[in-house]
Amino acid sequence: MLAKLPMLGLALLLVHLTLGGLSLAAARGVNRLRSVRLWGWGLIVYAAGVLFINLDSVFDYRPTHLIGNLLIAAGTIPLVQGLLVNSGRQANKRWAWAGLILTGLALLANCLFSTDPRPLNLIAPSPFAITMFVYGGITLWRHPLPPARNTCRLLAAGMLACSLLWSLRIAALLAADDTQGVIDLFSIAQILFSMIGMLCLFWIEVLKMEDRLTTMAYGDSLTGLPNRRATVSRFDEQASRARRTGRPFALMLFDIDYFKKVNDTHGHQAGDAVLRHLAETLTSAKRQEDLLGRVGGEEFMMLLYDTGRPDARTMAERMREQVARSPATYEGKSIPITISGGVAEFPADGDCWDTLFNKADERLYRSKAEGRNRITADD
Ligand code: GH3
Ligand code: MG
Ligand code: MG
Repeated sequence: MLAKLPMLGLALLLVHLTLGGLSLAAARGVNRLRSVRLWGWGLIVYAAGVLFINLDSVFDYRPTHLIGNLLIAAGTIPLVQGLLVNSGRQANKRWAWAGLILTGLALLANCLFSTDPRPLNLIAPSPFAITMFVYGGITLWRHPLPPARNTCRLLAAGMLACSLLWSLRIAALLAADDTQGVIDLFSIAQILFSMIGMLCLFWIEVLKMEDRLTTMAYGDSLTGLPNRRATVSRFDEQASRARRTGRPFALMLFDIDYFKKVNDTHGHQAGDAVLRHLAETLTSAKRQEDLLGRVGGEEFMMLLYDTGRPDARTMAERMREQVARSPATYEGKSIPITISGGVAEFPADGDCWDTLFNKADERLYRSKAEGRNRITADD
């Protein structure tokens, strides 16, 4: 019985079963690995299809071929859905099912009415699989996940190449006398494609994870602004650039006035909403190239590139007025806020993070002491 098994068919089965099993094991219990889980199911269903087709060569029994081919076609649905998770899109389920049913009907008619069902059976699942892969490849190419753009595109190109491979397989099977040779050759190519696809998919997960970690390490989850760590690192970059070019830049510090009162009067959630609102107001008031970060509970810092103290003061005043003019709203209530600020210039007021930040903080403290809702830019 073993001698009757096509060995490459067996390799195709085992490789896809292993890759599918590994994918499902890797995705177990982790919601975020949805694409790997769907892809894993796709490979398992595909492997089950290959198993049925291989059984056919042992038992020479028509329904096994029908079931096998149908499973191969069906496997492409979770496979493509899994890949498309990385483009934030989904294959249209209704169209996918319609294509699968059509493929099933063609296979059934061939199984029932053909005197020799084998030639058509060999190519019957291909049109559906090719359509799914072309759709998936083009969609993923057009909408790759930003942190893994290149790998998504590589995967998309692989899907398109795979659909080309399946099209060539149809042409070769129709033209060649030695169909087993064609089947074997394409089985090898299919194994390679599935392995490369799996590597790409896992690499995309690594890049997604890296992006999440970077966001967590450098971003502030409440406002979405860079956090203190990120602003210090941008400060260092900017300081070395300013030392090279000899051009100044300004550091501004803002602190909300009487913020404790907002929390006490309206609650902590309202306080959070005020912080988000202030982040938005300052973001819309700043120049695009300038950096705004949240460096403390209700303290915000801004780096103004190529800007001296007089211009920075004007800009800080404008922002202070803007904040005073645009109250936050929380659950229908308007919550007016004001901010106080301190401005310092690199390198005149300090030529490293500690000295410059302390100078701006000192001036901010003076703004508070002199009555709040004001900006201080000199001693
Ligand atoms: P001042 O005008 O002197 O700045 O008075 P203040 O009440 O604003 O005093 P301070 O700057 O010391 O207040 C900081 C308050 O900010 C204390 C804390 O409860 C609140 N706070 C810090 N982080 C958060 C946050 O993430 N959410 C909320 N809702 N409140 C925060
Ligand atoms: Mg404060
Ligand atoms: Mg405050």
